[in-house]
Amino acid sequence: MTEQQSFLVTARKWRPLVFSSVVGQDHVTTTLKNAIRTGRVHHAYLFTGPRGVGKTTCARILARALNCQNPTDAEPCNVCDSCTGVLDGRSVDVIEIDGASNNSVDDVRKLRDNAKYAPLNGRYKMYIIDEVHMLSTAAFNALLKTLEEPPPHLVFVFATTEIHKVPATILSRCQRFDFRRMEISSIVSHLRHIAETDGVSIDEGSLVSIARKADGSMRDSQSIFDQMVSFCGTKIVASDVSNALHLIDDEFFFDVAKAISEHDVARMFEVSRLVVSRGYDLQETLIGLLEHYRNLLTVISTGSTTLIEASSQTMKRYADTADSISKADVLRLMTIITQGEAQLRQNPPHPRVRFEFTLVQLAAMDDSVQLGELLARLSVGTPSAPVGGVAMAVKVGPVNRQVRVPTKQASALTARNLSEKWNSALEGLPEHLSFIRSAIKQGMLTVDFSDVGLVLRPAADIIHHRITDQVADLRSHLTTIYGTPVGLQLIPAPALSVAEREAESGKKNGVEDDSLMTPIEHTLVALFKAKRVGRT
Ligand SMILES: [Zn+2]
Repeated sequence: MTEQQSFLVTARKWRPLVFSSVVGQDHVTTTLKNAIRTGRVHHAYLFTGPRGVGKTTCARILARALNCQNPTDAEPCNVCDSCTGVLDGRSVDVIEIDGASNNSVDDVRKLRDNAKYAPLNGRYKMYIIDEVHMLSTAAFNALLKTLEEPPPHLVFVFATTEIHKVPATILSRCQRFDFRRMEISSIVSHLRHIAETDGVSIDEGSLVSIARKADGSMRDSQSIFDQMVSFCGTKIVASDVSNALHLIDDEFFFDVAKAISEHDVARMFEVSRLVVSRGYDLQETLIGLLEHYRNLLTVISTGSTTLIEASSQTMKRYADTADSISKADVLRLMTIITQGEAQLRQNPPHPRVRFEFTLVQLAAMDDSVQLGELLARLSVGTPSAPVGGVAMAVKVGPVNRQVRVPTKQASALTARNLSEKWNSALEGLPEHLSFIRSAIKQGMLTVDFSDVGLVLRPAADIIHHRITDQVADLRSHLTTIYGTPVGLQLIPAPALSVAEREAESGKKNGVEDDSLMTPIEHTLVALFKAKRVGRT
């Protein structure tokens, strides 16, 4: 027996014989059974959906159920003459037509002529037309005439994988059923059942790999399962499946992702060599990597692994890894991969170099957290957290909204924990800054706590000048006390004249000046190159 024949045997062996054993299409089978029970059988059904999900199987069950001599609860008995006739392909009342090879107008005319005659044995005459979208336009028009005035004994079931190619005039005369792509979990549990019955030992990783390779098709999954049995015998392990199906296993993507997170650019060239030497498709490798990050993203976003199609062991790994990367970084990595994959799709020259370039870009990408810290460092000492946010938007491109605006100090610097340590900050002031403590006691200086730092309001110029002179020391003292840089705003004494302030800002230069500005002033200065002209 050839491999091909053995697939057919097993696929047939596990083909559901009643509606209740069809997997994953309850919305279809329940409706069909109700129609049979209540005698409201439509004269034309259209079954649409991906390949291998049970369209033809359901059409055949429907055919037997309609003509069965001893139906039970709208299910065929599969033992009466009528049922066995259909099962063996002997029935003259149930006719299966492959739309791909019988697509001419003559074929349909012949069908129409035959359809006129009443069924020989059962109640219904039934035509099952597979791949109905392959019919020619003339054939559709001929079919339409029959659909417009169908004899009462006639039932059509059209099956198609490409519903958009079926003319609207046909669609409007059919009751339509959309078959679902199979869930990986449904396929896995069905394959597990088959394996147990057939005495095949197979691990969960292998089952998931097969189900994924079958891409939602139960029939394909059974074929692949058979292929594995002929390849491995009755004991199937995940590595054999990866080898036989030429799959890139999950381990590979976890490794690559780890190297990317470690910014190991050199390793990217090794990965590229490995991919080429194993004969993996470059584009598929990128898609696999994209899926890997997609899986991580679902864990980061939902806090659960339920949206991942993988073995429970692999799901756990995703859950364990998700903590080590930010959503912003995952999105940025996915953007780079998507761009790289799109380029490869256009079959450019030197695909391997482009593939490598994408990998290197991934490994060379800065973490957004580091970027954030960098920006925070740049803005340290200025009360300008909001400005930091603006600057970041420029830096990190399209996903900037996701970037965690960093900074330990932003979280530490709430007004509340500033005030909590304020007394010890005052007590611990070094000798040359102790005038601040005295000024506060004498009511010459007020201190407000805000979420961006301290706001100092001297009541007199002399205090203002002294603080300005010592501001660097004050900052470093506060940093020691709070364990992190503290924003500082110094609001000039109310009566300060324009002339005095100009004199003062002339005396000070650069960064020192910035400390006198409020956050909004900082932003204005940065955005519009504005200049302060003083207050009135
Ligand atoms: Zn029967």
